[in-house]
Amino acid sequence: MNFGNLFGGKKKTAQESENKWIKCPKCLSLMYFKEVEAKQEVCPKCNHHFRINASKRIAFLVDEGSFLEQDASLTPIDPLKFSDKKSYKKRIEEAKSSSGGKNSAVMSGSCTIENIPVEIAVFDFSFMGGSLGSVEGEKIVRAINRAIKKRCGVIIISASGGARMQESTYSLLQMSKTSAALNKLHKEGLPYISILTDPTMGGVSASFAMLGDIIMAEPGALIGFAGQRVIKQTVGVDLPEGFQRSEFLLDHGLIDMIVNRMEMRHSVANLLRLFTKEERVVSQLIPQEIKEEYHQD
Ligand SMILES: [Zn+2]
Repeated sequence: MNFGNLFGGKKKTAQESENKWIKCPKCLSLMYFKEVEAKQEVCPKCNHHFRINASKRIAFLVDEGSFLEQDASLTPIDPLKFSDKKSYKKRIEEAKSSSGGKNSAVMSGSCTIENIPVEIAVFDFSFMGGSLGSVEGEKIVRAINRAIKKRCGVIIISASGGARMQESTYSLLQMSKTSAALNKLHKEGLPYISILTDPTMGGVSASFAMLGDIIMAEPGALIGFAGQRVIKQTVGVDLPEGFQRSEFLLDHGLIDMIVNRMEMRHSVANLLRLFTKEERVVSQLIPQEIKEEYHQD
């Protein structure tokens, strides 16, 4: 859901949206659109993080003007000639037109964050539920390969319902393909930061999303493998409060940190500096007395 959808009906122009009020789905406060937009689309009353598209995520996270999109022309084919209520081909066409001409659920490219070069792949939930198909997997692998070539880190921001059922095994193969590429990155000693956003489910959470050297999440994000209803029916007990939310996962050791959207850029840059051993920040983290002792030796 993006902001446009909150108003329902036809897509509004930017001018119209600017004059609108929106309701937070969590605290139900009515707020002026601009007020929420200025906070990177986070509710100023209750800190609810609205779902946002890939372009906005990139704009909020990376250095202005540094993003160079890669592999934008890769487009899904329909190897299985799959059809349920609609054909897969038709679904792709619809997703393309509703997303303003995007070819897949992943936007990837090269950029800098606080002047540190990094390769990034970002999921867009509005494109077929951010599902992982052959093109999405390929774009992730290419981003990892570029990072190995350039000797820089990789960031993947997930927002996905899981593997794309219309591609069946081709889609499931992307789990092992991306994991294998990340293993190569790991062997090269290069960092991978995984950022989980609402929602990160299914085959995405069961592969690269949970393989980060550091796994970060936005507050309140739904993160899991199977849906809560399925789990409840299977185990036959009521699930604890907050189950499958970022905070629950942090408490149970599945993720490393929860970071507010507005602090994400700086936190990611700090981690990249640490992992790439940039002297400036590492040296800031060493207490003065230890530094003095070191220099005396
Ligand atoms: Zn709120």
